[in-house]
Amino acid sequence: MDKKVVVVTGGSRGIGAASARLFAQKGFLVCINYSSNDFAAMQLQKALNAELECTYLCKADVSTGEGVERLFNFIDNQLGRIDVLVNNVGILKPQASLIDIDEDRINQILRTNVTSQLLCAKAAVSRMSTSYGGSGGAIVNVSSGAAKSGSPNEYIDYAASKGAIDSFTIGLAKEVANQGIRVNCVRPGMIHTAIHADGGEPERVTRLSRKIPLQRGGQPAEVANAIYWLASEEAAYTTGSFIDVTGGL
Ligand code: NAP
Repeated sequence: MDKKVVVVTGGSRGIGAASARLFAQKGFLVCINYSSNDFAAMQLQKALNAELECTYLCKADVSTGEGVERLFNFIDNQLGRIDVLVNNVGILKPQASLIDIDEDRINQILRTNVTSQLLCAKAAVSRMSTSYGGSGGAIVNVSSGAAKSGSPNEYIDYAASKGAIDSFTIGLAKEVANQGIRVNCVRPGMIHTAIHADGGEPERVTRLSRKIPLQRGGQPAEVANAIYWLASEEAAYTTGSFIDVTGGL
């Protein structure tokens, strides 16, 4: 197989879907991972395959070790290689202060937003690393502007999980730099996706858009552009770096 392979976790909707689309347009074979919404995943695959015949779907909950194993077994069996991992999965829960956030919610946020990215990166490194016979590759982690703002009275658990992703990016970039793998991170700001409905306020981006220096929310494709650049050869000397796609916030 000559084409490079990208795996996008949470690639069926929002920022992940925009990234899958861009990588497909750039000539990659794209493995789109998702967890439950078959309809959205199949719609995206249909749209991309109509033009390019280049996408594979893998339904697997990557917040569990079992799901990560299923995803990477699928990649081994169906695609036979991995060149780029876009570690994009992340969830939000309804706006609340810490005093009202329970243990189950905290654990679910940390498992989905942090454990998933570490486990997927571990599986990708074991396949990409020149120390293990691989050909190198790139990992792009999706964090959030929340890692810097802390999201008080909204999603302090989510913000803490994204702070962990920032630290993880810095550490892993140094750990695997001499194994042919670059690790970078994108921190989106307020982007028009359905995640805000999960956070309890579907119109949040529109409500807050005047507080954003560029006076509008971002589009998923604008985040995908940064993700793609960090994964591309144009960023060959960039590792352990962050791009904020926040409209200036
Ligand atoms: P989204 O529109 O809600 O899409 C979420 C995607 O993740 C869907 O494809 C969903 O699949 C998948 N997913 C959720 N849990 C999963 C799991 N356990 N295993 C596998 N797939 C799972 O999200 P988004 O807004 O594009 O956010 C993408 C990333 O950007 C997240 O890390 C988020 O924290 C970050 N971010 C977003 C914003 C923003 O304003 N949108 C801002 C900063 C950072 P199903 O359809 O099957 O559920």
